Amino acid sequence: MSSGRRPLVAGNWKMHKTVAEARGFCEALAGMVDPAAPVDVAVCPPFTALQASAEALAGTAIAVYAQNVHEAASGAHTGEVSAAMLLDVGADGALVGHSERRAAGDTDAQVAARVRAGIDAGLIVVMCCGESLDTRRAGETEAWITRQVREGLAQATAADIDRLVIAYEPIWAIGTGETATPDQAQEACAIVRAVAGGVVDGQQLRVLYGGSVNPGNAAELMACPDVDGALVGGASLDPESFAAIVAAAA
Ligand code: PEP
Repeated sequence: MSSGRRPLVAGNWKMHKTVAEARGFCEALAGMVDPAAPVDVAVCPPFTALQASAEALAGTAIAVYAQNVHEAASGAHTGEVSAAMLLDVGADGALVGHSERRAAGDTDAQVAARVRAGIDAGLIVVMCCGESLDTRRAGETEAWITRQVREGLAQATAADIDRLVIAYEPIWAIGTGETATPDQAQEACAIVRAVAGGVVDGQQLRVLYGGSVNPGNAAELMACPDVDGALVGGASLDPESFAAIVAAAA
């Protein structure tokens, strides 16, 4: 982590937590995170729990991000949610291009359009990228993440730096308990930074690592010079383990 970049730890709840559970989590988390700690913190509830989470976290520094955002402002897009709708329920940001969304069909072109739409609306956008195990074994990790970052930022400009974050999440490490080594995370995050540097100021860009981050491995991963925080799935569902990861970033 560079001293010039403020770390971000975001918890992706995926399809977990009812409204009541989200409220309870947020109230507990607010009591565990030091508001003076030099780290940005966000939770990413499902759409249904965004408003309750935002209300429970009002007055705290903890942000609320959605797990996806559609590129259109409105229209015939059954099941989708626009950036304006996210803002309407108190969201501050959104993930875009998570590998589970890409596996469900989200394309690079949609990711690029969603990055654009989210930032234009005033959201923080965390664009996700990462390779499969087959791609890594084939020695094609660099080419893969280079393409994903280039195509994902196809509509971005240098002016987007304050609202753009990129998360490197190797698919083989997501939800598997298998974490990238600090060397693997550093190498990939440095590639992400260099490629994104063709569009935004790479030295200002926050690049997160995601993939089985937990309280035991968070500190060494986030100590890597090009890793500016973490996108956390499973370990973000419990306020104590998530707060411990936040403390490791701070
Ligand atoms: C994720 O879903 O973004 C993720 C990193 O999940 P996990 O921490 O469970 O691997």
